[in-house]
Amino acid sequence: MTFTLPKLGYEYSALEPYIDAKTMEIHYTKHHQAYVDKLNAAVKGTKYEKQELKETLSDVDSLPEKIRNAIINHGGGHANHSLFWEILSPNHGKSKKKPSEKLLSDVEDSFGSFDEFKKKFSDAALGRFGSGWAWLVVNDGELEVISTPNQDSPLMDNKIPILCIDVWEHAYYLKYQNKRADYIEAFWNIVNWSKVEELYLSALEG
Ligand code: MN
Repeated sequence: MTFTLPKLGYEYSALEPYIDAKTMEIHYTKHHQAYVDKLNAAVKGTKYEKQELKETLSDVDSLPEKIRNAIINHGGGHANHSLFWEILSPNHGKSKKKPSEKLLSDVEDSFGSFDEFKKKFSDAALGRFGSGWAWLVVNDGELEVISTPNQDSPLMDNKIPILCIDVWEHAYYLKYQNKRADYIEAFWNIVNWSKVEELYLSALEG
């Protein structure tokens, strides 16, 4: 088994009431697990079994055509969800509601203010038609808000993701049904800004 489900650092119920336990359990044990299993099936017997997923996703054009789409979909799915679990905080209520120091000042420089950044990110998440993700990425040292369809990873464009929200219906439908905007609003209560800051600093170091 090459790729494995990363350990979730908290209970399924830890993000209540913003993300419900049942959604977390199904999302992690069924959806994410399926991406891992299908990625493993796609890379079986190839050099991509041993290669860092980040590296594989950064050069998808060079992948053999037979497995390219499977790696984009399931490798992307694995990488995207692995980051998503990490940037969610089980300590909401106690943890900070915005980043501090360097990330905060760079967000303000890039987007005008923290609130304008939140609006731009939320709009990207809301405006993604169908299934996909919204991201805060580091692109050549600059902060950027983008969205991607399906399980496409920003790593495919050599952008380093530091914050993301999954806007596939499987991420919110049980609790929020069609109300994606309410889910996005709730998301801001459970962002682990300390982790995002750590990812930002390491992205800047390259
Ligand atoms: Mn998902």
